[in-house]
Amino acid sequence: MNTEAQIHQLREELREHNYKYYVLDQPTISDFEFDQKLKQLQQLEAEHPEFYDANSPTLRVGGEVTKNFETVAHRFRMYSLDNSYSKEDLEDWEKRIKKLVDGAVEYTCELKYDGASMSLTYEHGKLVKAVTRGDGVQGDDVTTNVKTIRSVPLQLKGDYPDSFDIRGEIILPLEGFAKMNEERLEEGEEPYRNPRNTASGSLKLQDSAEVAKRPLDCLLYSIKANRLPFDTQFEGLQKARDWGFKVPSEAKLAKNIDEVLAFVNYWDVHRHDLPYEIDGVVVKVNNLQQQDELGYTAKAPRWAMAYKFKAEQAVSVLHKITYQVGRTGAITPVANLEPVELAGTIVKRASLHNADQIAKLDIREGDTVFVEKGGEIIPKIVGVDFTQRSKDSEPTVYISACPECDTPLIRKEGEAQHYCPNTEGCPPQIIGRIQHFISRKAMDIEGLGGETVTLLVNNGLINNYADLYELTKEQVIPLERMAEKSAENLIQGIEASKQIPFERVLFALGIRYVGETVAKKLAKHYKTIDRLAEASEEQLVAVDEIGTKIAESVVAFFASEANKITIERLKSYGVQLEISAAVLANQTDKLAGNTFVVSGVFHQVSRTELKKLIEDNGGKVSGSISGKTHYVVAGDNMGPSKKTKAESLGVPIISEMEFLEMIQ
Ligand code: AMP
Ligand code: ZN
Repeated sequence: MNTEAQIHQLREELREHNYKYYVLDQPTISDFEFDQKLKQLQQLEAEHPEFYDANSPTLRVGGEVTKNFETVAHRFRMYSLDNSYSKEDLEDWEKRIKKLVDGAVEYTCELKYDGASMSLTYEHGKLVKAVTRGDGVQGDDVTTNVKTIRSVPLQLKGDYPDSFDIRGEIILPLEGFAKMNEERLEEGEEPYRNPRNTASGSLKLQDSAEVAKRPLDCLLYSIKANRLPFDTQFEGLQKARDWGFKVPSEAKLAKNIDEVLAFVNYWDVHRHDLPYEIDGVVVKVNNLQQQDELGYTAKAPRWAMAYKFKAEQAVSVLHKITYQVGRTGAITPVANLEPVELAGTIVKRASLHNADQIAKLDIREGDTVFVEKGGEIIPKIVGVDFTQRSKDSEPTVYISACPECDTPLIRKEGEAQHYCPNTEGCPPQIIGRIQHFISRKAMDIEGLGGETVTLLVNNGLINNYADLYELTKEQVIPLERMAEKSAENLIQGIEASKQIPFERVLFALGIRYVGETVAKKLAKHYKTIDRLAEASEEQLVAVDEIGTKIAESVVAFFASEANKITIERLKSYGVQLEISAAVLANQTDKLAGNTFVVSGVFHQVSRTELKKLIEDNGGKVSGSISGKTHYVVAGDNMGPSKKTKAESLGVPIISEMEFLEMIQ
């Protein structure tokens, strides 16, 4: 088989497996086999850029960065939906419909997925555009990011029309959302509040590789085109499935409003069994001809109606407000409740967020409170039943000292959270920092778990993560549940962590706001911990994607005497505090200060490699041409609009060869 045919076949196979895995949820090969094939394709594509395909399955991993999302007009306006809340609302709606159309009316009942609306445009079976709803007339072009969502087909199958739009909802399934939050907590950051906002926020991330990591999903419900190859909404859903889209199978046909209500009532109860959140049901007149006759009001179709579920609430008694201290010292107030059933689970605790929230709702111990559960990990208190408040109830006085170490709390200008500033002496902070240091994505110390850290700290054997490197087997053996063998493993695990690369060590240090990605950026930019420690706020902010919040936090970390000592100790034990020579060997400053835009198809190197070369040589890659662009590296088929823009701004356009000469 020649290479071109081989590339085509791999793409075809990967598309099919992708479809089976992400759309049908019925994989037929192992993840390992899938990754092997993907790697093979990646390699072939890199060696043969002439077979570039903007919709290759290899693009699912992202990598392109969008600085500004372009505003584009929708081909078909994206309307909102009218809402109904009761049987009567639906019956009134049916009466209005019957006045406007003749004959029997059937309804499609669908779930109302709670996410961010999305319009996808397909031409000749290929995804060409993905646009947010915006104001309904125009939205933001988020194609690069949406391409990374595995259940969005990049290439359709079957008898699809040549050109159409399809509408759907980008959602974050609950399980994936919970996992993202676990990771957030590991990084010492506030958890995301709910899946919907997190899904829509994800679409506007600049780095598509970041989007690719998020477990987003896309559920489709409506096809728009000048001429459609079906007559009813229900058939449309089936067609969309046939073409490779993910269309949930819960949709049902109803002959009348009673059948619609049966669907509504069923899902009001069973919605908690779904892997994602819904906030109601959408009812649509099934016949497209009838839809046409009914048309639209200024805001919404007359042929569709949303039925919104009431948010589930429970009433409980707030016994006590307690306060938790996180590893960064952040204080979180927690409501300890009389156990109560809510949305299928027993709730005993609810989040009170911060002091302002408690004051705003005037929440007091002993109050009868309303508890709601949205997508949050723990439910929240949304109000107080003041009629139940006892006469001698006292307003809540927020704590002023740390519940763990008694240090007076501080609250920074503009921040909602209180902090315990006793970083060096506050037990949950000490333990939390070491637990973070050893965690999987940080130093990944085998043989050492979170509970052992607590034991080690409580027995006075360690007080910060540098102390780990002085532990001896003899010190560890006497501890609870320790034996010769496990102690040996622990010491070996610590020893092995000295090989962990600098970027992960930097993440492990637990600098506030320095998560995995930021740590990578900083490690790459500064190369050694000493250079990073010397950087000023202004210098840090000048680094791509580093904002003032991060910069302030980094400077504060290195200003601390205690941290300086810890770092010197880590150095003396041989922990990696600079980028290794092997990685450095390929890096130069030749392109420092220059911003490049890459466009078109290349021959000597792939686009990804080209971008890496720019960055490795100190240059910056940007997605769009502006006054700040220094060079456009143009391959074959460079976009005409880019060309015009570069010419009008006087930005030099260089070829691949010219670029490669620059870094020779
Ligand atoms: P609203 O934002 O409350 O006006 O509700 C309208 C939105 O519901 C639409 O813009 C869609 O994003 C969303 N939606 C979710 N599921 C569906 C569905 N099955 N059919 C139509 N719209 C839906
Ligand atoms: Zn404290």
